[in-house]
Amino acid sequence: MPQLPDVPLHGLYGESIMDHFRSPRHRSALASSDIETEEFNPFCGDRVILQIKLDDAGRITQVSSRSEGCSIIQATASMMAEALLGKSLAQAAALDHAFRAMMRGESLEQESAPELGDLVAMQVVREYPVRIKCALLPWLALEVGMESHQLGQAERD
Ligand code: ZN
Repeated sequence: MPQLPDVPLHGLYGESIMDHFRSPRHRSALASSDIETEEFNPFCGDRVILQIKLDDAGRITQVSSRSEGCSIIQATASMMAEALLGKSLAQAAALDHAFRAMMRGESLEQESAPELGDLVAMQVVREYPVRIKCALLPWLALEVGMESHQLGQAERD
């Protein structure tokens, strides 16, 4: 496996990342789900399996975010799962957009930007381009999952 630069995990943001890495949230598999995707990054062996359960109103009521690999993907997968609960898919897409903008170092319009919560800690990864991929893999899984869900909906309509 190639040697990847280590992101310094000290300070407030580093502690938040380590907390999610050591005690990841929402890792139990769901018996049934409306969205299920698996993404893999062969570059550093990161893998994520994302499952989402929606209610009749299209809100995310359950999330399972199982990841393996480095601390960055495992922490992001945990933080993302927490942030997605209770959101509509449109709000989930807005969160994805806001997270990616933060990782690109763009400043967000304060009023329209969704709360990133613990995810703000991931900005420490910005200086390490190869590690940004680790932080984006769970979001890629979310995008792929939402896209195929929408295609499925369109076919049923
Ligand atoms: Zn990684």
